[in-house]
Amino acid sequence: MELTFVGCGDAFGTGGRFNTCFYVKADATAFLIDCGATSMTAIRHHGIDPNSIDTILLTHLHGDHFAGIPFFILDAQLYSRREKPLTVAGPPGTKARLHDAMELLFPGSTEVTRKFDTTVIEMPKLETTEVAGLSVETFPVSHACGDPPYALRVTVDGKTVAYTGDTQWCDGVKSAGHNADLFITECLFHSRQVKGHLDLQTLEEHMPAIAPKRLILTHFGPEMMANLAEVAERYELAEDGKTVSI
Ligand SMILES: [Zn+2]
Repeated sequence: MELTFVGCGDAFGTGGRFNTCFYVKADATAFLIDCGATSMTAIRHHGIDPNSIDTILLTHLHGDHFAGIPFFILDAQLYSRREKPLTVAGPPGTKARLHDAMELLFPGSTEVTRKFDTTVIEMPKLETTEVAGLSVETFPVSHACGDPPYALRVTVDGKTVAYTGDTQWCDGVKSAGHNADLFITECLFHSRQVKGHLDLQTLEEHMPAIAPKRLILTHFGPEMMANLAEVAERYELAEDGKTVSI
């Protein structure tokens, strides 16, 4: 399976990077992990066919992680002329928040008949949910965003990719990433410890216990960007457009 960083930036475009969105191409399906406000632009920028995407998985309901979906759905309806079903799976609260976002940004857009079915699944915490051919485990994390935030651990084609979403350090990070084939972790800060987010120093303390097979850092703020050259000597870093094989 291949994963492309469609966007790996923070909420505010630091470094000119797009909001969080990872495109994963598996044998029989393709899916996104998160779909931030700028993701439709990023999908076009990287030449990805939106109709190849069967499923959008969401870690949490902040705009830089889910607000691209109204644009994705309207593009599917108006430009991409989608006919195959779309599945969106996120934490409890996803149905209402997605409905509200669509109505706020494009009034009336939830009432239009579409040529494709859209199914929204709210995944319970600490369970494995089968979502359109993917096994998705949910781990509650610590990040205030109005509804429960998750780290996700996705298994498909016998491989596991785990992603923290946004969070400060908590056991859910370790459980999600433990021994994963690919563990992607947010690293908004370098050495500043800030509520609700992770920093490199904290991650370094815990990484031996997480012990992923491969680690990639993502979601950098200004402090991380200022230290990027030094960090790149020791860690693999996300970059918009980068594709890795898992
Ligand atoms: Zn967030």
